[in-house]
Amino acid sequence: MKANEAVQLFFDRAADKLDLPESHRTLLKTAKREVTVEIPLEMDDGDLQVLIGYRVQHNNARGPMKGGLRYHWEVDLDEVRALASLMTWKTAVVNLPYGGAKGGICVDPRKLSRKENERMTRKFVDQIHEIVGPDQDIPAPDMYTNAETMSWIRNQWEKYHGFNPACITGKPVENYGAKGREEATGRGCGILAFKLLQRRGHNPRETRVAIQGFGNVGSHAAKYMSESEFRIEAISDISGGYYRKGGLDIPAALKHVLQHGSLAGFCGGDKISNEELLALDVDMLVPSALGGVITEANVDNIKAHYIIEGANGPVNAPADQKLFDRGVVVLPDILANAGGVTVSYFEWVQNRQFYSWDLNRVRQQLDGVLTAAFEDVWQEAQHHNVSLRTAAFIIAIRRVHSAMFLSGL
Ligand code: NAD
Repeated sequence: MKANEAVQLFFDRAADKLDLPESHRTLLKTAKREVTVEIPLEMDDGDLQVLIGYRVQHNNARGPMKGGLRYHWEVDLDEVRALASLMTWKTAVVNLPYGGAKGGICVDPRKLSRKENERMTRKFVDQIHEIVGPDQDIPAPDMYTNAETMSWIRNQWEKYHGFNPACITGKPVENYGAKGREEATGRGCGILAFKLLQRRGHNPRETRVAIQGFGNVGSHAAKYMSESEFRIEAISDISGGYYRKGGLDIPAALKHVLQHGSLAGFCGGDKISNEELLALDVDMLVPSALGGVITEANVDNIKAHYIIEGANGPVNAPADQKLFDRGVVVLPDILANAGGVTVSYFEWVQNRQFYSWDLNRVRQQLDGVLTAAFEDVWQEAQHHNVSLRTAAFIIAIRRVHSAMFLSGL
C-alpha cells in the first residue's frame, strides 16, 4: 500500500463518523499545490547530477502551511503528498494556527559531501523561494536534514526576500532557533507515552520499550524516556538493533552516537535486526525511523500493547485495523510526533516578536499543548468508541473543515 493511500483510508474512517459528503472529502484530501522541480547539482569532481525535488502544499485554511523537508533516496511525489496532508491534520489536532505542507529531494545524502549538500539545498531554494515564506509555507527539518540545512535555506531565501528568520524553523539556537526545538519531537513522544500509561494505570518502571531509529526523534525519545524510568530494552538505527533484557544504558548509547555518528559498534546489547526489534516481547514500541514498517506482513508478530508513532506513517491502514481489533493502543503520528511542529511554532512566534524564551518556558508550553491535545483525542475516542487515530483525525478534520467553510470557499 502506497503512503498516500494509507492516509486517505485513515481520513475516510474519520470522515465516515462525521458524515462528510464526497465533495467535501475531495476538497479536504486534495493538495492546494504540488510542485516538482529539477535540481542540477554540480559535484565536487565536476560531474553533473540531476535530482528531483518536491514541495506539496496541502491546506492553508487555518494558517500558513508548515512541514519538514526530507532528503532520502525513497522520496517520491506520493510520499510527499501523504506527509503534507498528515501535516494539515497534525497542526489541527494540536490546534496550532497552521496548515500543512511537506518537501523532499530524492537523493542519498550520505553520498554527498557537505559542500554538495549545501549547493543542492541552495539550488532547491532557488526553485521554490517564491512559494515559501513566513506567511505562506514554513519548512523545517525532517529525515537527513538538520539545523545547518535550515540555516542554508534561510540564507538563500533571504537573498531574494530580505531578513526574516521566521521563514524557516529548526534553525541553530545561536542563529534565531528556539531552545528545545531539537529535542521536541522525541520529548513529545515521551510525554505522551507517559500520559497514555497514566490513563491506563500503568507505570513506566514496569514498561519495557523498543525504539526503532536513533536519529533526532528516536534518540531524544530514548533520552526522555530513560530519564522518566521507562525500561528501554532495545534501540536501533540503520546499522541494526541492540537488545538487552532489563534495560540498555541509554546515556552510553547517546555518547556512542556522538562519538561515532551511529550505533554501529555499540557493545551495550546483543545485536538484532530491525525486523526482530519490532517483534520483541516488549510492552511498548516507538517506531521512529521510516514509514510503512508495520504492515499486513509483520503485524501478527507484534507483541507490544502500545505503539507510539514517532515516525510519520510507520503503521499502514490494514495493520492499524488489526492492531485495534487486538486491543493494541496506537498513539498516532499526528499526535505522537507533534512536539516538533509545536516547538517550531514557538520558534516562529519568537522570531516574529524578536524575543527569545528560556528552555523552561518552551518545555512547559510544549507539555501544555500536548496534554490538551491528548485529552481532546482521548475524550473523542471514548465518545465514538474508536481508535486514538480515528479520534485524532475526527478532531483535525472538524477543525479544518469548519475553517474552510467559515471563511468561504
Ligand atoms: P533522522 O534522520 O534524524 O534519523 C533517522 C534515524 O532512522 C537514524 O537513526 C537512521 O539510522 C534510522 N534509519 C534510517 N533507515 C532505517 C532503517 N531502514 N531501519 C532502521 N532505522 C533506520 O530523522 P528524524 O528527524 O529522527 O525522523 C525520523 C522520523 O520521524 C521520520 O519519519 C520523520 O518524518 C519523523 N518526524 C521527525 C520530526 C523531527 O522533528 N525531526 C518531526 C515529526 C516527525
